[in-house]
Amino acid sequence: MPQIIDGKLISTQIKDELKEQVAAMKAEGVSICLAVIQVGNDPASSVYVNNKKKACAYIGIDSLSYELPEETTQEELIDLIKELNDRKDVNGILVQLPVPKHIDEDAIIRAIDPMKDVDGFHPQSVGALCIGQPGFVSCTPAGIIQLLKRSGIEIAGKECVVIGRSNIVGKPMSLLLLRENGTVTVTHSRTKDLQEVTKRADILIVAIGKPKMITKEYVKEGAVVIDVGIHRNEENKLCGDVDYDDVAPICSAITPVPGGVGPMTIAMLMNNCVESAVLNR
Ligand code: NDP
Repeated sequence: MPQIIDGKLISTQIKDELKEQVAAMKAEGVSICLAVIQVGNDPASSVYVNNKKKACAYIGIDSLSYELPEETTQEELIDLIKELNDRKDVNGILVQLPVPKHIDEDAIIRAIDPMKDVDGFHPQSVGALCIGQPGFVSCTPAGIIQLLKRSGIEIAGKECVVIGRSNIVGKPMSLLLLRENGTVTVTHSRTKDLQEVTKRADILIVAIGKPKMITKEYVKEGAVVIDVGIHRNEENKLCGDVDYDDVAPICSAITPVPGGVGPMTIAMLMNNCVESAVLNR
């Protein structure tokens, strides 16, 4: 049987460590505050925003919540971001994506002060990751590195294959694996013979956005498989990009969905908030 990588447990460990760190910082008079902005009332975004606020409350991070109407203009949103950039009591700024279509997402990301960019999406943060300098790292891939490390899985020298090259998962994931001295291959929709490439992987990271697409034909015997995907199947149950029942018997370790990568994203967001407060002290 493979090792089941328990993201719920590991994310709780991280949040508990952060809770202790925040309590110690508070005792020294340092408080931490995350500003969360949601434009419109997309139900999925509201769930994410609420979960982020709950995690802040658990750890002892203050949160400021801005629920703006759908018709908010780009200029109004940027004005609010600028105001938060200037506030000394705000350590992190998060704009829940996606924003409504009339707002340019890239302009919003660029407006956030890189020192408060706890999502790690600002071009300066991505550039810093690329050249190995300190900066905030996108939360989902950062969480995957923690899952691997805390499960005792060595990355250095391993063949790592990432399926997907999105700005928030695939690309930063490949850079982080490289930083950990993995030998990294990135695949995408134009990759020829995907199976031939993925079968080389000691560590296979799947962020393809297609329910249960990755079956055992894509996986080398004994590989570690990390499933980033989240979907609802026909029975309204959560499933990933990996066909878990098919793949689990042949791999050495695997993340389930739910309870694998998902919980790590918020834990790493909290980690970035604490890091921001430490850096800006
Ligand atoms: P995107 O849709 O932005 O990217 C998907 C990537 O997969 C693209 O690079 C695309 O290639 C590639 N791809 C699509 N089809 C194929 C194919 N047939 N063969 C090879 N590559 C293919 O998705 P995200 O990166 O944003 O998310 C991926 C998954 O992870 C989704 O299920 C999403 O819901 C989930 N997710 C989960 C998070 C969590 O916290 N657990 C956080 C973020 C995402 P190309 O670039 O050529 O189009």
